[in-house]
Amino acid sequence: MLNQKYLNLGVRRSDIRELFEYAKALKAEIGEENVFDFSLGNPSIAPPNSVNESIKSMVDSVNATTLHGYTSAQGDFNVRKAISDSIKQKFDFFMPTDNIYMTCGAAASLTITLCALCQAGDTVLGFKPYFPEYAVFTQTSGATFIPVDGDKGLDIDLVNFEKSINKSVKAVIINSPNNPSGKIYSLEKLNALAQILCNKSKELGHPIYLISDEPYREISYGKEVPFIPAIYDNTIVCYSFSKSLSLPGERIGYIAVSPKAYDSQNVYYAIMGAGRALGYVCAPSLFQRVIANNLFAVAAVELYQKNRDALCDGLKKLGYTFINPDGAFYLLLKAPDGNGKNLSDLAKKHNIIMPSGESFGAPEYVRISYCVSYDTIINSMPAFKTLLEEYK
Ligand code: PLP
Repeated sequence: MLNQKYLNLGVRRSDIRELFEYAKALKAEIGEENVFDFSLGNPSIAPPNSVNESIKSMVDSVNATTLHGYTSAQGDFNVRKAISDSIKQKFDFFMPTDNIYMTCGAAASLTITLCALCQAGDTVLGFKPYFPEYAVFTQTSGATFIPVDGDKGLDIDLVNFEKSINKSVKAVIINSPNNPSGKIYSLEKLNALAQILCNKSKELGHPIYLISDEPYREISYGKEVPFIPAIYDNTIVCYSFSKSLSLPGERIGYIAVSPKAYDSQNVYYAIMGAGRALGYVCAPSLFQRVIANNLFAVAAVELYQKNRDALCDGLKKLGYTFINPDGAFYLLLKAPDGNGKNLSDLAKKHNIIMPSGESFGAPEYVRISYCVSYDTIINSMPAFKTLLEEYK
């Protein structure tokens, strides 16, 4: 008999992946330009030139067996040192080189961290709306993921959060800028959250770790994205270059364990052990070196901002209601009848592809991924207009 847990995960793809496959088939049938595919968070902006230049120069100048060989399990020392230096420079925070562990993107960072911290019987809290894969990653560790209700504007609700913490809570996942709402949590909110975590850790007699999932850290349209380890000591950062450098298929990111975290040395060892047990061996060697040369580079985020502005203007003029995104490249659009699943299904008739917010813990909404071409946004507006007319 096969492992039913994994069989089920393979048979039933995520809703977003299902829609992405549907959009692909529809494009082949009626032409790419006739499908408004807002399903997936696949960056539409090319990586910065410096990334391409680094790849070429590495291939030309570094010994091939070194370049493509295994690195240390935790990642090449010089790469980790460069990340440590960049964190010091950007946030004035000392993150030791030996507290950094290179990974295959945020998904790996999260799964490894959760396996290092948790086991069966433990609970991991998150905040609605949330990235649905958190439940899957948490399940790998044996723990259970429980999302906490947000407030009306889908920001963190601190009262609900405090009520949700009991002795089984081992960790909390936070994601800002957020997928799917585009929200950036304010410093004030994060300070209050940290205070609750400190009080509860004391009251329950064990540390509660905060896992900061940061694939969108660099994608902000003006609002400051607070650096979480400077706010709460028991923080583990799960960073990824998938979106900031438009490299999602290359699988590169890192975990950074705050040196101020409780038992940080053993947390780091457990991370190494989890990476080993999950079979990661090491992060891609070439791309470790490429990102080390590009720690201050970012893809042309202003193009996403242009998309956001056009999308928000267009939808507002048509009469839609939505959550205003501060960053990332997602927007939650409210279903006129409060049923996101219906809106997602109805939108397919108009060749607009956007997943229901149900799996993100926001069932009244659909999620629009606006990391598409500007033309797709402009050209989709007549379809959004006729879609809204269906509700009248
Ligand atoms: N976390 C969030 C919130 C995401 O949106 C994504 C990808 O879309 C991931 C993690 C996984 O990112 P990566 O491609 O770096 O594994």
